[in-house]
Amino acid sequence: MLSRWFTELFFPHTCCMCGNKLIIGKILCDECLLSLPRTEQFLLRGNSTEEFFASEPRFEEAAAFLFFDKESPIQQVVHAFKYREQPQLAYHLATIAAQEFLETDFFETIDVIIPVPLHSKRFRTRGYNQSEYIARGLGDVTGIPVDTTHVCRVVNNSQQALLPKQHRDQNVAGIFQVNHPEEMYRKHILLVDDLITTGATIRSMMDAMKPFRGSKYSVFALCRPR
Ligand SMILES: [Zn+2]
Repeated sequence: MLSRWFTELFFPHTCCMCGNKLIIGKILCDECLLSLPRTEQFLLRGNSTEEFFASEPRFEEAAAFLFFDKESPIQQVVHAFKYREQPQLAYHLATIAAQEFLETDFFETIDVIIPVPLHSKRFRTRGYNQSEYIARGLGDVTGIPVDTTHVCRVVNNSQQALLPKQHRDQNVAGIFQVNHPEEMYRKHILLVDDLITTGATIRSMMDAMKPFRGSKYSVFALCRPR
């Protein structure tokens, strides 16, 4: 199992978007890489992802990398890394995003990257946390450490995607808890999610992180709806 995972991580055979044959070590063909539906939000302060967090007191900046359109190749890729045991796709897309974001100062003052945690029950069922794979992709390119121990999800809430938007804040209220907050004082923390729709989950995380005194937050999402 491990060797298959390793092989597929580093040597996938076909482009994850169009299915064309690939040379070793890539997940996307050149054509699909060029045509990724980029938001370009990392170049744009006050973008539509930042609007989700504008009222959060210690919020710095936010950007989503790609637009997520229904029935698009990106939807298939997200489906594959979320539900079909291909988290390496999330990792690779994050490394592509990080290389492009490095052209700006987006990562410059970030001290630590924290992925949105899964509840332990869901983690056991799925076997991995796709947001952690995204965080590791960003971390491997930027050299910024990834932390998965200081924030945990203590309530196994219903999936946000299954709920109407007006119920999502309530669904995620109080679902996170923090450990050893003193180790996170005065840090600039990048919160990482795979798909951001209303920002409710991340806002709930920020709320739980109040004991991280003097810390401030930025947000990276791999994709968001248009
Ligand atoms: Zn392709």
